[in-house]
Amino acid sequence: MRKLRGRTWFVLLFALLLTAGICILLGMYFVKGSEWASFSANSHLYTNGRIATGSITDRNGLLLYDGETGDYAEDRTIRTATLHAVGDQYGNIMSGAKLLFRQYMASYNPITGVGTGGNRVALTIDAQLNAAAYQALDGRQGTVAVYNYNTGEILCMVSSPTFDPYDSEAVLAAVNAGDSRYDGVYLNHFLSASFTPGSIFKVVTTAAAIDHLNALEDFSFTCTGSMEIGGTTITCPSVHGEQDLAGALANSCNCAYAQLALELGGETLQKYAKSAGLLNAIKVSGIDSAKGSYTVTNDAGSLAWSGVGQYTDLVNPCSELVLMGCIAGEGSAKTPTLLKSVTSDLGLPTALISSSTSSIGWKASTCRAVKALMRNNVTNHYGQSQFGDLPVCAKSGTAEVGSDAAPHAWFVGFIDDPDHPYAFVVLVENGGWGSSVAGSIAATVLNVLCGSD
Ligand SMILES: [Zn+2]
Repeated sequence: MRKLRGRTWFVLLFALLLTAGICILLGMYFVKGSEWASFSANSHLYTNGRIATGSITDRNGLLLYDGETGDYAEDRTIRTATLHAVGDQYGNIMSGAKLLFRQYMASYNPITGVGTGGNRVALTIDAQLNAAAYQALDGRQGTVAVYNYNTGEILCMVSSPTFDPYDSEAVLAAVNAGDSRYDGVYLNHFLSASFTPGSIFKVVTTAAAIDHLNALEDFSFTCTGSMEIGGTTITCPSVHGEQDLAGALANSCNCAYAQLALELGGETLQKYAKSAGLLNAIKVSGIDSAKGSYTVTNDAGSLAWSGVGQYTDLVNPCSELVLMGCIAGEGSAKTPTLLKSVTSDLGLPTALISSSTSSIGWKASTCRAVKALMRNNVTNHYGQSQFGDLPVCAKSGTAEVGSDAAPHAWFVGFIDDPDHPYAFVVLVENGGWGSSVAGSIAATVLNVLCGSD
């Protein structure tokens, strides 16, 4: 009897383990099935290493890539401008939809398996806007990105250097031969690289100064064009004279911001860079953006330059874009995404598109104050006329990157308007003066986007 009871327990335990195993396998099959099916060795979906099913379009349905034929967009400028969003022919560009969304392109379903025809993957980008941004960059290296901070949709994401995917073979040969025109060509400069921010970092120093020094009311400074700090000379391009916080930000006075950095200290500046989200990666449709950096130093001269966005400061353009969205949203904004919809042959949605929210650790009142100062930059310094009627809030940056190289030109900001909830970042590497070089690209792109061109 005791023997029989023992066997019963054993059989029961075995049955339980078997059931649990089947449940785990089934669960993994439903969760991971599409990933397994889209594995690049699956010969049903791949021809010579490229995904051979499904298609990629822009937000307006313009065909960017056809999996079956391997064809890209008809227009050469659009092919070139959307390369880092779509992906090249050899899979060297990791941020491309061909790699990111391959499980969506395959019309996989857990019941019927891999279907024929594939799905239509619509990206959030507007191909025509990308083309306009690419043309505005005019062959220079850098990135132009615009997103809707209320929905997270990335409308424009151009990275340069770039190339026509139909030239992939020739470009691969040129890259392998060390052709400098293609330095970093496979890297998405918006998502996967960090750069010296220069004066766009003054937005962070400004927020810290508002909170810790009551700088909106108490700060006043007389710029004589340069100042000595611990053996280091801080210079301004001209003598800015007497100014308050709004004037110092609009004139981008290095001496005033060096003074603020000394009063705030490195720990506080680092805390604000971190709470601004500039030191963390952001997950954009499955890709982690590059992190920025801020180093606390005991050297007064280096601390002064760090508050001006120099020294060892680095920011990633995508993190900067989200910071702009979060200032517009007074502390939070939707996280950027590249995926708009996935539909079957019959036009039925076949994937659930989720969205997430990004937050910065700044008070809403601080965001509002920074926003007002950035609006003042445009109306009193950069010039409103280039933006038509759009209430643009912005900060320029001219980041020194070594004595032999031209500075990086930056222009970042957002439109403070519920009808046009867009944030933007423009970086022209070694492009020169921020407000004129990068600012004019931002104006071109925003005017195309908002239809006031
Ligand atoms: Zn100055």
